[in-house]
Amino acid sequence: MGNFDPVCIATWSFPNASRKAGELLTAGATALDAVEQGVMVEEADIKNTTVGRGGAPDREGNVTLDACIMDPSGKAGAVVYFKHHTHAVSVARKVMEDTPHVILAGEGADQFARQQGFKKEDLLTENSRDAFKEWLKTKEYKPIINIENHDTIGMLCLDSQGDIAGACTSSGLSYKMNGRVGDSPIIGAGLFLDNEVGGAVATGMGEAILKSVGSFLIVELMRQGKSPQEACEEAILRIIKQNSNYKEFQAAFIAINKKGDVGSSCIQKGFSYMEYRGGKNVNFPSKFYH
Ligand code: ASP
Repeated sequence: MGNFDPVCIATWSFPNASRKAGELLTAGATALDAVEQGVMVEEADIKNTTVGRGGAPDREGNVTLDACIMDPSGKAGAVVYFKHHTHAVSVARKVMEDTPHVILAGEGADQFARQQGFKKEDLLTENSRDAFKEWLKTKEYKPIINIENHDTIGMLCLDSQGDIAGACTSSGLSYKMNGRVGDSPIIGAGLFLDNEVGGAVATGMGEAILKSVGSFLIVELMRQGKSPQEACEEAILRIIKQNSNYKEFQAAFIAINKKGDVGSSCIQKGFSYMEYRGGKNVNFPSKFYH
């Protein structure tokens, strides 16, 4: 065991995921194993309608997952428009470890997953199929506002060796256009870390997060001396400056530095994050702008 007190933080209120990762870290697991296994809890939970199996489909009924993972050495892997396997994060890890690439998309990502022994699954559940049928009656497409419907899990872990890893996994916006990829699998936007500095991860309106390259920005601001809290607030301000309609959507970041200090900021009231530290698994309301 190393000398650091391990910490896990994760977007929203997913206590089972942060507990899983936190307990693993306490038992001496690496940050990389902890983030993977932590977010897998939500990927497998079919009650969660925006992560993994059970995630809401696009407008044509396809469930398409986006996920990425980064390890302390700066290696990264991602899958986008990924259709047939629950554990997108594990396939992203395989992309990172077993291919010369960072991102695999669509059919190629699914083919790679099958080659790696992942079982092909139908990601549309009875509930998500019923909800989709209901949605088809009006076909109302409102990615804006929809603040409650953001449940991407982004997680950062600091392990007992003092190393940081991160993961982010999502089925993206409900009833998005076929082919849409969000911020969650994009290194620098949905997730970024530098093991010398810290890490950041995002949830909310992917288009706004992509345009701000927010997670990268937060890590760079922390490198320049800002606390995780100050850095998250600055990234939210950039999004507000860039988007005159900011009152209509949610965007949120959480961040951690090498000392284990944590920060979080978002546009709208209502975002919270989990923190597992010293055996305690707590949900904290985030600071918000609006
Ligand atoms: N960031 C995700 C996306 O835009 C959605 C979310 O966090 O709810 O795909």
